[in-house]
Amino acid sequence: QGKSKVGIIGSGLIGRSWSMLFAGAGYNVVLFDVVQSQLDNALVDIKNQLMKLEEQSLLRGKLTANEQFSLIKVTNDLPEAVKDAVHVQECVPENVDLKKKVFSQMDAACTTDSTVLCSSTSCILPSNIFTDLPRVSQCIIAHPCNPPYHCPVTELVPHHETNPAVLGKTKLIMEEIGQCPVTLKREVDGFGLNRMQYAIINEAWRLVTDGIMSPEDVDKIFTHGLGMRYAFIGPFETIHLNAEGTESYMERYRSSIIRVSNSFGPVPTYDGEGLASIAETMNKRIPPNSTELGKRREWRDKQLIALSKLKYYA
Ligand code: NAD
Repeated sequence: QGKSKVGIIGSGLIGRSWSMLFAGAGYNVVLFDVVQSQLDNALVDIKNQLMKLEEQSLLRGKLTANEQFSLIKVTNDLPEAVKDAVHVQECVPENVDLKKKVFSQMDAACTTDSTVLCSSTSCILPSNIFTDLPRVSQCIIAHPCNPPYHCPVTELVPHHETNPAVLGKTKLIMEEIGQCPVTLKREVDGFGLNRMQYAIINEAWRLVTDGIMSPEDVDKIFTHGLGMRYAFIGPFETIHLNAEGTESYMERYRSSIIRVSNSFGPVPTYDGEGLASIAETMNKRIPPNSTELGKRREWRDKQLIALSKLKYYA
């Protein structure tokens, strides 16, 4: 039963999420790992997650949780996961040598030129993983945002030798499983999401270490200000709506943006006294032990689910 086959390589946090997303759209998923206990745990975890999502009316797709679960099989043989698959999603730990090794195994196990070989890497460039692979034209990065089930944006980053049709196919399959693909026209360190995230972390850090704001107040700028907006409109739409269109906004604010931006300091070193003081404040707010971090993560996920309900299920 089910549609074509999708192979998932690595059954950790991200491999489990991709398995659920592809099964949600009716694909036959074959999940591979080198560690048998990871595969055993993955099945238990995926079943629990699917059941919980169904209870909360958050399950994606038209199939029931049990039907989706029955589409997911596990294997400890990589070629079995890759054989005849339309799409293979690699999710092994973030290590360039390991990714290169796994990609050459995936490449060698490929039985058709139409299989797309895709990496979930957060920050390794396509040229560092795919260059010189015989099937480089079939390779691409699809970087999800965590948790992928509730934050659907997925960055697609082709290698300069990736066949444009492979980019097109990856975009379509991501849309089909309910993700929101965005495309980088060429590779750049950090891709789009982390470049913007790091720009924000840099300025947040400088505002605190320059003695201008407390870490709590910087966080509030996001949780009660920019973040409220950014869940619905990005920086470009913000600009467009905050004046009579983009040109009018720039007429009014161009000189302030340039003046303020020229006052940004250098990239922080993220260590020493600055680190000690920010860590002290944060550790008071949320003691960094597994119980307290766990409680706060659970709360964060609950809030994210509520927001995702509003955005995607209303
Ligand atoms: P993880 O540590 O939870 O899981 C990695 C899995 O890969 C483990 O089950 C491990 O046993 C398995 N593995 C190790 N060597 C393997 C091999 N040779 N073949 C097959 N499986 C192997 O890691 P994760 O958080 O799921 O991250 C996986 C990838 O996804 C990384 O590249 C990471 O950068 C990327 N990513 C992670 C996040 C995140 O928030 N965790 C977000 C986006 C992208």
